[in-house]
Amino acid sequence: MTDIVNHWIGGRTVEGTSGRTGPVTNPATGAVTRHVAFASAAEVDAAVAAAQEAYLAWGQSSLARRTEILFRFRALLDSHRDEIAALITAEHGKVHSDALGEVARGLEIVDLACGITVQLKGELSTQVATRVDVAAIRQPLGVVAGITPFNFPAMVPMWMFPIAIACGNTFVLKPSEKDPSASLRIAELLAEAGLPDGVFNVVHGDREAVDRLLEHPDVKAVSFVGSTPIARHIHTTASAHGKRVQALGGAKNHMLVLPDADLDAAADAAVSAAYGSAGERCMAVSAVVAVGAIGDELVQKIRERAEKITIGPGDDPASEMGPLITRAHRDKVASYVAGAAAEGCEVVLDGTGLTVAGHEDGHWIGISLLDKVPTTAKAYQDEIFGPVLCVLRAGTYEEGLALINASPFGNGTAIFTRDGGAARRFQLEVEAGMVGVNVPIPVPVGYHSFGGWKDSLFGDHHVYGNDGTHFYTRGKVVTTRWPDPSEAPAGVDLGFPRHH
Ligand code: NAD
Repeated sequence: MTDIVNHWIGGRTVEGTSGRTGPVTNPATGAVTRHVAFASAAEVDAAVAAAQEAYLAWGQSSLARRTEILFRFRALLDSHRDEIAALITAEHGKVHSDALGEVARGLEIVDLACGITVQLKGELSTQVATRVDVAAIRQPLGVVAGITPFNFPAMVPMWMFPIAIACGNTFVLKPSEKDPSASLRIAELLAEAGLPDGVFNVVHGDREAVDRLLEHPDVKAVSFVGSTPIARHIHTTASAHGKRVQALGGAKNHMLVLPDADLDAAADAAVSAAYGSAGERCMAVSAVVAVGAIGDELVQKIRERAEKITIGPGDDPASEMGPLITRAHRDKVASYVAGAAAEGCEVVLDGTGLTVAGHEDGHWIGISLLDKVPTTAKAYQDEIFGPVLCVLRAGTYEEGLALINASPFGNGTAIFTRDGGAARRFQLEVEAGMVGVNVPIPVPVGYHSFGGWKDSLFGDHHVYGNDGTHFYTRGKVVTTRWPDPSEAPAGVDLGFPRHH
């Protein structure tokens, strides 16, 4: 018997009643370790009702109270980093140090939320007309929902809920059913920090739970992070139901390496960004575009480094890269490598068929490196989301740029060069939401916003930073006239109000 990961509604664990569950697997062993309850529409309704009830008081609570609780949550999260990272490794498979990095980047957004007082300061214009003042304020929306992917089970929820609740909203999280435990531990820590019941709720599940959140009349906004087809579905459906939506999708991130780049630094960066977290990052570099005559040398340098990566269970400190999330995903990733040669790629490293001694049933795959990849290859066109790096060749900067801009995705990108002028041109000309200059994974710090372009984001707002505060609040403008007590009333005037 495995135990069940239950929902968290109204400040306590609530057992699932739908009769439907899904398996939670340890990717390093292939063993099913727990089952997760899948919420029915009625269970989602119960979570939204708890959030709606909590909103009545939380939406009116003082900034001092909200930030005091967030500061306490920050301290608790800080002291439980290791425990949460271990939960992530056990269900996601990433190595412990990587999981710790994920918690640290989530904590950065909690830091931002602790300082929401500064972001929520309104604007005031005095004497816009005689004795008239105008104030612009921002107010919470109500109940907001977050739907998150498997690859960052702690960080991506923390991109959302700290800011949402700091702004006075209440939150319903639907985490990935593949690694649901971290979100429950976070819910417990929020309760320990003194967050009132119902302000933060977790419902687990699949499409049934998600679709109910998208339709529910009391859910005012939906934040989503996941694959592009689902992001599109979320954006279309939630928008049709009158909700504010930000839906972040998949990616194919390119790294353009110019002939003058430091090739050792570029190779280090490409290997770290392509194979870190086994390539299961939306900001992974999955395509390197080598410009000019450097291609062979760069591929050789990438190969030398990639061959040295130690692959093993995430809880073994010697491991640098862990397994993939599911066996089905591992097999899908392997199929791209198997088909690569027939599509015209040069297979430099083939990581398929790897097993790890003592963990034979884990979802293993080794490092794959494909060179001279044509843009028509499926390995190039699809987001593989595994440890497969494609190298493409371009004759000139312009050719490389055109190739990147032809991609339907526009999440992150990077340029490696010593030429400041070229880097400056690239920043302005490339069609992507996040650009690195000699930085391979340009995930913005918490006080800037994260988001892609094109098929990598549907909606108008990026997540966290100023965009986060804007997304989770709506503006109101108040125009006030207080007549001078010594003056007579102005009298009736049917003309359209003008300022003077
Ligand atoms: P996914 O789209 O399969 O799932 C994301 C969420 O949507 C999960 O909670 C899942 O339960 C739910 N879901 C799945 N199918 C659904 C359906 N048919 N209807 C409604 N909801 C559904 O994504 P994933 O495999 O968990 O995560 C990997 C993907 O997420 C990759 O494409 C990656 O690039 C992307 N991602 C993007 C970013 C970003 O910032 N742009 C960040 C992290 C991950």
